Amino acid sequence: MPYNIGALDSLPRSVLSQTPTALHKMPNLTAHFGTANLFIKRDDCTGLALGGNKARQLEFYLGQAEAEGADTIIITGAVQSNFTRMAAAAARMKGMDIHIQLEERVANTSEIYHRSGNLLLSRIYGATLHTYPYGEDEAGADNALEDIANTLRAKGQRPYVIHLSQGHAPLGALGYVVAAHELCQQGQPFDEIIVASGSGATHAGLLFGLRALGNRTPVRGICVRRDAAAQAPRIIDRCQQIANLLKMENPVKPEDISLNDDMLPPGYGKMNEAVIEAITLTAQKEGILLDPVYTGKTMAGFFARARQSKPSQNLLFIHTGGQPALFGYEDDLGPLLSDTPF
Ligand SMILES: *Cc1c(COP(=O)(O)O)cnc(C)c1O
Repeated sequence: MPYNIGALDSLPRSVLSQTPTALHKMPNLTAHFGTANLFIKRDDCTGLALGGNKARQLEFYLGQAEAEGADTIIITGAVQSNFTRMAAAAARMKGMDIHIQLEERVANTSEIYHRSGNLLLSRIYGATLHTYPYGEDEAGADNALEDIANTLRAKGQRPYVIHLSQGHAPLGALGYVVAAHELCQQGQPFDEIIVASGSGATHAGLLFGLRALGNRTPVRGICVRRDAAAQAPRIIDRCQQIANLLKMENPVKPEDISLNDDMLPPGYGKMNEAVIEAITLTAQKEGILLDPVYTGKTMAGFFARARQSKPSQNLLFIHTGGQPALFGYEDDLGPLLSDTPF
């Protein structure tokens, strides 16, 4: 089925996700708050290596890698990165090797953080692991990926690098242009959509796709990585880069960029009380698991919106996945939960 959004139909894409993902009401949370109708889109159930938003993003990276004849994927991320775990699965499905660079983005992490969760899964996929000592040096992390790539090229391999820093075409965001089309097809109108804003690929792609299709629904990005002042120019930039990739006018206006960083403290990969409440309440009301780094914060921001809303409104939360990280955060979460096991 053609999308007819700029050049989207002509770009290389390798289908990895099981879509459309379900969109449903959360009846118990809706009753709990007694305000707006609260809906969720289940992009945690995209089906690649336990799912998440990166399945949609990787379709365009892996498509490009295949088009270039690559035999190895190289990617960087936090130690508990979901992107690297899903990239490992995607690479293996395409018969490729996988190299993962782990950045130390989060201070004072436990031993289990460096052993369980996403990292355990990446090792099941047989990933070759590299480490990078910093977490706030995107250009440096990308340069280190190039060093790995050069070493592999010298051995005759054909690596494809998935870059992190801003200067590179955000192919992954195209996965969320596709998701915007899917959401419009699902036919339910919303007063607001709430989504995690990390690298911004998901936020920018979704916003771009909706506006390109003439849909004016406000999209509120919940900051999980950096504050709103730092994130806003990145989203604007990403939208322009998407327009360049799709060879079309950028339909996103500066006033379309909505960001909230109330839930960010104490920083990337660290939880606060509102996040713990969001994780436990969503589990205990809806049976739905959130993650400690992204969707817990985003749901906390969604709850804040729910509390301010009216019964006539419909709010949508995009669940971007990330649950494997729960196991890497056992030392942070465990002591806060009900009852003690032994
Ligand atoms: C990566 C990630 C995000 C953030 O997505 P971006 O496209 O980087 O902004 C949100 N949720 C989860 C679970 C993720 O893994």
